[in-house]
Amino acid sequence: MPDRAPQPVDRQLPTDEARDLISLVRDIAQREIAPKAAEEEDAGHFPREVFTLLSESGLLGLPYDSEYGGGDQPYEVYLQVLEELAAARLTVGLGVSVHSLACHALANYGTKEQQVEHLPDMLGGGLLGAYCLSEPASGSDAASLRTKAVRDGDDWVLTGTKAWITHGGVADFCTVLARTGGEGARGITAFLVPGDSDGLSAAVPEKKMGMKGSPTAQVHFDGVWIPDGRRIGEEGQGFAIALSALDSGRLGIAACAVGVAQAALDEAVAYATGREQFGRPIADFQGLRFMLADMATRIEAGRSLYLTAARLRDAGRPFARQAAMAKLFCTDNAMQVTIDAVQVLGGYGYTADFPVERYMREAKVLQIVEGTNQIQRMVIARHLAGPESR
Ligand SMILES: Cc1cc2nc3c(=O)[nH]c(=O)nc-3n(C[C@H](O)[C@H](O)[C@H](O)COP(=O)(O)OP(=O)(O)OC[C@H]3O[C@@H](n4cnc5c(N)ncnc54)[C@H](O)[C@@H]3O)c2cc1C
Repeated sequence: MPDRAPQPVDRQLPTDEARDLISLVRDIAQREIAPKAAEEEDAGHFPREVFTLLSESGLLGLPYDSEYGGGDQPYEVYLQVLEELAAARLTVGLGVSVHSLACHALANYGTKEQQVEHLPDMLGGGLLGAYCLSEPASGSDAASLRTKAVRDGDDWVLTGTKAWITHGGVADFCTVLARTGGEGARGITAFLVPGDSDGLSAAVPEKKMGMKGSPTAQVHFDGVWIPDGRRIGEEGQGFAIALSALDSGRLGIAACAVGVAQAALDEAVAYATGREQFGRPIADFQGLRFMLADMATRIEAGRSLYLTAARLRDAGRPFARQAAMAKLFCTDNAMQVTIDAVQVLGGYGYTADFPVERYMREAKVLQIVEGTNQIQRMVIARHLAGPESR
């Protein structure tokens, strides 16, 4: 039996425009992203040039309003673009998702004046964003954040440290959640902070298990002056804005997880149909056939779940519960599928000669970011049983 070359995913897309978009993304992924992924991930190289190309191709603002340079695409299309990008290289797919997350606050809660001034550069002008919520002492309990913004006339002065910031040190703008009032969720306000502000600096990036090409760093705010015109939404509205961004962002993580899992399955099928043991391709053995069938079924189920949530969002209906379910299910699946892919390749799967060990390391982080999977279960349970009694 010859190696089976992976077939492109047969996608349900609503328009011819969306089909053309997916073709464009596949072309960029195959020509510009996938060929360099292994080497650049190994070297920890951040592919800024790829993000510039994506911006020039109209792919950095897809789910946003074309009036401000966005692509006017529904979430069901945008997420399938992310899936294709993540299958080629997670650093790129997740990077686009985080950039979208960073644009969410201004695009949905900014004033018309702020949107006209800033959004075109953010959505299609080559800028790259970061989303600054987490801190060294506040991760899952994000509402306990301590970074402060203190009023000084018409300005604000930001002081504190954000942790784990994707694009920390390379971002052109940061959406920052800071404390302007008392303790808890109601004392938090959102700001749009230029990446080159005086007093803003990034630490040396974290040495991570995977996604080594994606810089993740602490970002320090040491008396950063921000005019009140860069406050997004009302004072005290920041945490609600942050959570609303995360509902959509979680769908991005789910789509990235399906992309990584699909890439791992494609590699496992190609290997299993080419590798022979006992005089037959190993794909002949039921033990492996069933494993491949389970992997494919998990991926298809995950894709259906994130698309269901996306279509609810596109229809203007509540989707937070389904988004949490999609993030939980797709990322847990990506972990399982990538572990299984390593198993299908046997000893070779454990080496850097094949990409499946990288996929396995990459899948792990998706169970942690934008609310760990324990937090997703809490969100889903709250929709079922109401808030915890204490
Ligand atoms: C590569 C990477 C990129 C990231 N990018 C960004 C970014 O761009 N912007 C940003 O703001 N943040 C970012 N993060 C931070 C990420 O969102 C946090 O790591 C995550 O929210 C968890 O916070 P923590 O690491 O502090 O873990 P903790 O909150 O300390 O949790 C530790 C463990 O306890 C569990 N736990 C905590 N509370 C509960 C509970 N109530 N019930 C059950 N279990 C619980 C958690 O699930 C976890 O298993 C990134 C993280 C990584 C690793």
